Amino acid sequence: MTTNLSYVNQNTDAWMTYLAQIERVKPYLGHLSTYIDTLKNPKRALIVDVPVVMDDGSIRHFEGFRVQHNLSRGPGKGGVRFHPKVDLNEVMALSAWMTIKCAALNLPFGGAKGGIRVDPRQLSDAELERLTRRYTSEISHIIGPQKDIPAPDVGTNGRVMAWMMDTYSIEQGHTVTGVVTGKPVHLGGSLGRVKATGRGVFITGCQVAKKLSLPIAGAKVAVQGFGNVGSEAAVLFENAGAKIVAVQDHTGTIFNENGFSAVQLQQYVAQNGGVAGFEDASAITDEALWDVQMDIFIPAALEGQITAERAHQLTAKLVLEGANGPTYPEADDILNQRGVIIVPDVICNAGGVTVSYFEWVQDMSSFFWSEAEINERLDKIMRDAVEEVWAKATENECNLRTSAYIVACERILMARKERGIYPGK
Ligand code: GLU
Repeated sequence: MTTNLSYVNQNTDAWMTYLAQIERVKPYLGHLSTYIDTLKNPKRALIVDVPVVMDDGSIRHFEGFRVQHNLSRGPGKGGVRFHPKVDLNEVMALSAWMTIKCAALNLPFGGAKGGIRVDPRQLSDAELERLTRRYTSEISHIIGPQKDIPAPDVGTNGRVMAWMMDTYSIEQGHTVTGVVTGKPVHLGGSLGRVKATGRGVFITGCQVAKKLSLPIAGAKVAVQGFGNVGSEAAVLFENAGAKIVAVQDHTGTIFNENGFSAVQLQQYVAQNGGVAGFEDASAITDEALWDVQMDIFIPAALEGQITAERAHQLTAKLVLEGANGPTYPEADDILNQRGVIIVPDVICNAGGVTVSYFEWVQDMSSFFWSEAEINERLDKIMRDAVEEVWAKATENECNLRTSAYIVACERILMARKERGIYPGK
């Protein structure tokens, strides 16, 4: 795989993974493949310097990004990541996956993503607020309810979104709730948004498990990442009778072949900051996670986790991608050959952006829905998307990732074709 973008490091995992995924879908796109290069070039990438006055009076500079990958189908949409490994290439890939995700679910958005290269755990609350507000101000000319709508991602949450909304609103001179989603409910946030991504992982996972005749009751589930997505998915699987046998997070990996309570683990993590030390399971090495006996694996942390080697080890029959980009293309091939079914990120974790869409609609109309209405609409959109992608996979004899990309790319490239190129010849 190669790219002619001068600012891309050819060895960068995430963007190259995305490009490989795009190459794989190309043969299925017929005449629309003429326009595929539009997906290999992010439309707009902004790099900002974010100076922050630290609590001790010193000034530190952080690198911030906002990338709008594609806007053919509507305003940009996608989260903001605060993590020490954030760089331009990662944000580009994450923004591109948002383009595919929004189109796969038929949400009226393009794809965008932002981030700051920072470890938020090392900052005080006041420093985090100053960092967020300055970053928002720096990117404020390219975001907005009709332009690009940020949301939470790894390392950010409702509180960060509240600061972003407030900063943008102060600069505009009036309250603009629709500039970000994932806000606290009393600030124009939507009921059900916090749990939506984990819920979507559960719904899509159950639906595909049913097609594979894999019973959820008694199924052994392992989860990588126990933040908002992984923990909520684990709780829902546990409620449906599955056994959570292993969980890994930044503090370590825990295992109990007889299963342990995800609800109790959630409480433990809220108090202790991580899964390490949880009484009902034993500590194992991080690498041992990949050998654990399991039926379902939920990667819900960062990209680039399932390598070719780990794909050979994995005992799961079903992989539910709660994270964005957790599987390398080579690992995808190995899992396919081994008959392991992957519900790809662009469908599996799309519950979050789907309820973000509901939040944006509610903010625009100043009319708010009940949680039951939200969950009912979310469940239907996710189920319909799985059915559509499953049918396309059967029709094209391809895996679910390629079929999700076919569905999405057809929508994006049709929009691209019909809008044309400005200026024409
Ligand atoms: N960061 C989430 C994702 O990767 C949510 C994005 C959104 O709600 O806009 O899908």
